[in-house]
Amino acid sequence: MSQKKEELSCSFCGREKKDTNLLIAGLSGHICDHCIRQAYGIVAEELDSDEKKELSQSLHLTKPKEINEFLGEYVIGQEDAKKVLSVAVYNHYKRLTSAAKKTDNVEVEKSNIVLVGETGTGKTLMARTIAKMLNVPFTIVDATILTEAGYVGEDVESILSRLLQAADYDQKAAERGIIFIDEIDKISRKGDNPSITRDVSGEGVQQALLKLLEGSKVNVPPQGGRKHPDQKFVEIDTRNILFIAGGAFDGIERHIARRLNTQAVGFHSSKNRSGEGAEGNMLQYIAPQDLKSFGLIPELIGRMPVVTHLDPLDAETLKRILTEPKNALIKQYTHLLEIDNIALDFQEEALQYVVEKAVEYKLGARGLRSILEAILTDAMYELPGHGEENYSLTVDRKYAAKRLDKTALKALRAAS
Ligand code: ADP
Repeated sequence: MSQKKEELSCSFCGREKKDTNLLIAGLSGHICDHCIRQAYGIVAEELDSDEKKELSQSLHLTKPKEINEFLGEYVIGQEDAKKVLSVAVYNHYKRLTSAAKKTDNVEVEKSNIVLVGETGTGKTLMARTIAKMLNVPFTIVDATILTEAGYVGEDVESILSRLLQAADYDQKAAERGIIFIDEIDKISRKGDNPSITRDVSGEGVQQALLKLLEGSKVNVPPQGGRKHPDQKFVEIDTRNILFIAGGAFDGIERHIARRLNTQAVGFHSSKNRSGEGAEGNMLQYIAPQDLKSFGLIPELIGRMPVVTHLDPLDAETLKRILTEPKNALIKQYTHLLEIDNIALDFQEEALQYVVEKAVEYKLGARGLRSILEAILTDAMYELPGHGEENYSLTVDRKYAAKRLDKTALKALRAAS
């Protein structure tokens, strides 16, 4: 009997049992540990290349110009930022697909992005739209809630937990996702001196973020937070996660102006670049060193090589935002009322009025919705169930002004 056992061999490589560490029996054959390992390697490689193929096929369709066009369906204006973002995202995912080819000697670095612009100018919208187009998991985190490990607040790793949740716990999908870090300017270090005392919410967080941005394997509690101490950690490789950071960087114009004025030699003289009131938006000259003067640490800036700006929204742009994007507010309200057989005719002069009020009360694009809500609430309350076949609601300047009295506007301003 023992004699017979010794004659057993692997049906794949022919190794005898004594030459293997393990020989597993199947229905009509055996397989040894060497062959299992080899087969596993083949399967992993095959699946991986399938995935890469799939990815490259989907990205094949989205060239920078196409990304820009898609962005344009949702984001009005901001042409510079849209262009820079399209190229950065395209390069990022190109890098992802070419990473499979081991023959490539050139390693393309990641193009994490910093978007600088006033609040409410479309930074989050852009990042969200890109993620929608690429169909990758997307999450937004507010940098101000992050603290160094061990302090009250959220650890930096919690960002990855959120991305994992957004990816329905699909680890591979999360590893190709996009993370939008909002208010990155709020974690700048205070003062230009490297900190002597511990700076829990500023430089310390920047250092912690650096680890993620550099591309490393991080153990992540899938449920996030410290409330579930027993959960099994998942290892997330951040190498291919695209980070987009956004911030208003209030007052950075001064740093830009100072730098430009000291460098103003040659063709572009300093004539138009002397700070506030300079031609156009001073932010258009933003460069990484300005972020450093503002208080981001050089290592972090180095990991976010693409810096671009967003322009403040003028009245013309606000008006376009009301009607042009794919999910423009006027389109949304028209659709809502249509369901109740009410045809909404929101006249040009009323649009103009809405924009004027948004500018006057400094409500920005975010305020547009609240203004429209205030104007249309009465109608949306009264009209459903009106009983008429085809009802039409015309909103002209007078109608809008009547609904939106001063108290409503003041309340909106207080809330914004
Ligand atoms: P930020 O992240 O810059 O603070 P958001 O992207 O959150 O601003 O913008 C707030 C809202 O304002 C968006 O959801 C969108 O409805 C509107 N909005 C802002 N800027 C634009 C824009 N350029 N084009 C279209 N809508 C915009």
